[in-house]
Amino acid sequence: MDLLILQMTEFCNIDCSYCYLPHRSSKKKITKPVITASLERVFESAAQDRPFTLVFHAGEPLTAPLDLFQHAADEARRLSNERVSVKLNVQTNGTLINKTWCDFFIKNDVKVGVSIDGPQALTDLHRKYRSGAGAYAPAIAGIQLLKENGIPFHIIAVLTSHSLQFPGEIYSFFKSIGPTSVGFNIDEQDGINKDSSIYACDEARYREFWKTLFRIWVDDNRSLEIREFKGILDLVAHGEQSVDFINSNQTNRAFSIVTVNTDGGISTFSPELIAIDGEQSFVYGNVLSDSFEYILRNPKLIQDISQINQGVTACRDSCDYFFFCGGGSPSNKIAETASFEATQTEYCRFGKIVIVDEIMKSFD
Ligand code: SF4
Repeated sequence: MDLLILQMTEFCNIDCSYCYLPHRSSKKKITKPVITASLERVFESAAQDRPFTLVFHAGEPLTAPLDLFQHAADEARRLSNERVSVKLNVQTNGTLINKTWCDFFIKNDVKVGVSIDGPQALTDLHRKYRSGAGAYAPAIAGIQLLKENGIPFHIIAVLTSHSLQFPGEIYSFFKSIGPTSVGFNIDEQDGINKDSSIYACDEARYREFWKTLFRIWVDDNRSLEIREFKGILDLVAHGEQSVDFINSNQTNRAFSIVTVNTDGGISTFSPELIAIDGEQSFVYGNVLSDSFEYILRNPKLIQDISQINQGVTACRDSCDYFFFCGGGSPSNKIAETASFEATQTEYCRFGKIVIVDEIMKSFD
């Protein structure tokens, strides 16, 4: 396992228009026994032979009490050994960061990711409180506190159709706030977000955005790390030896990523799958009762592994972009086609193919 994602709470204090989480108004929180069991399940697994990262994510983690986080950090420290150790990471909307959280991040060496979409007008368009007020100002105040306390942070930004006319403004904004890197997600059809403004946009406009952003980045001597550009160029430079190639299949490999919800329910593959309820649920067991080895015998998981592998094989056989992609994301295949066996999706077209194309064309 490479990544353990703990859902500290289902709740989010804001209500982004493109969010995939169905229960973000619920105040349900994780418990200390679930946190301990999650970590113990990893450490007791005979297959766990390497360090891994624990990410606090899904819902707004910082709405949960600090002592739950301190418990996770203490338990991670208690269980770590020479072979298996734990790095801590949090993905937050930034609006609740205060001095107490900064002290916790420093004391426990927590890497911080902040979600913000760009300049105020862009961020406030889709990242709003339930009252309708924009979340930009508190998020920027949180970022400012991180900077004052010397805490590095990376950014995850969501691109919507509104972003496409502002590549220069978006680049300048992120450069000005000083993150270690920026990753661009797209407004995608996933979970309960059924409509993507990106999938509905004119593809030529979308291509122009990436072409322009890439040119700006090159003209600026690549001085801001952009996840998408770094990943693709690293693959071009180092082929199958590159970190991105090795990691590209994580969402397609059972137990490379493990997600645990507030009840202790375990899912794997794409983290977004944990948000799907009902008959279609991808929760395969519970950390309070089941070891990873036991869950691997779950017939539903065995069936899903087989279907995901068939989808990856079909991608490998049919798609020129497989080298850059590794066979796509199971959650997007399910969201768009209701099958893991699918190949090309709108997500891979907009999230991968167009970006690869525009970078490669720039070398022509
Ligand atoms: S780009 Fe799409 S079709 Fe190609 S390998 Fe990835 S998921 Fe499969």
